[in-house]
Amino acid sequence: MALKEPFPDLGEILVSIGEGGKRIANIDAAEGAAGNISVCIGWPIEVRRRFPVAEEIPLPQPAPHLAGRVVLVTGSGRRLRDIEADPAANLGAVVVGPDGETGTLCTSPGRLFERLTSEWNSHLAVHDDTVERTGTNFHAVVHAQPPHLTYLSHLPAYRDEDRLSRRLLRWEPETIINLPAGIGVLPFMLPGSATLMEANVESLRRHRIVLWSKHGVMARSDISVTRAVDRIEYAETAARFEYMDLVNEERGEGLTVDEMRAVVEAFNVRTTII
Ligand SMILES: [Zn+2]
Repeated sequence: MALKEPFPDLGEILVSIGEGGKRIANIDAAEGAAGNISVCIGWPIEVRRRFPVAEEIPLPQPAPHLAGRVVLVTGSGRRLRDIEADPAANLGAVVVGPDGETGTLCTSPGRLFERLTSEWNSHLAVHDDTVERTGTNFHAVVHAQPPHLTYLSHLPAYRDEDRLSRRLLRWEPETIINLPAGIGVLPFMLPGSATLMEANVESLRRHRIVLWSKHGVMARSDISVTRAVDRIEYAETAARFEYMDLVNEERGEGLTVDEMRAVVEAFNVRTTII
């Protein structure tokens, strides 16, 4: 997928990041300064009016397929719920250099952070990998820490990827429609580490959302920030049903395999889950 003209302007994209941050906070998935958002833009876009302060920065790892693109990304320690009130102060705009190894970080004079998010390497790697594979001109990545999903990842049985998806996609018919490739699962890995970055890229090739065990999730969309946030909401709602069922001695039926197959057929869903 790629967005078609007329493209959203910078102001509209900043608003969408602010709204996404607020929705993530509203589902209790961004306590304190947890969570981060980035958007990679592949058409010419003027950022210096909103972000006039420029400095050269090394990228945490090469992103050759993003050369010339702009990545808007949240600052470290900023709160997702606060972005909406002043997006420019909470975000940086990185113009990736032609070598894909350095960039120009453009910020607002009112900048409220020292460094970019500690998960900047994972955001950048997922953007670079997706642009290489699909050539998309727009890509949004959201990291959040939804409590029910994260709690389930503390139960060893739920760290089995196939089992997690089968258990979670059975509570509402639209879950499999919105998450047809299910939910990826990674074991616990150190936040911000190269190990997490690499495993995360690999899992997000196969899924639109991946659970980082004992930590949170990362979701992506080549349409909008809202779609990436939607995926987190669908998965977290499913995890809440699963949690409710566990504490209710697993009395819930859930959709049967036949019922799920009927949904898949009626809505023409291409899925690998059932
Ligand atoms: Zn986190």
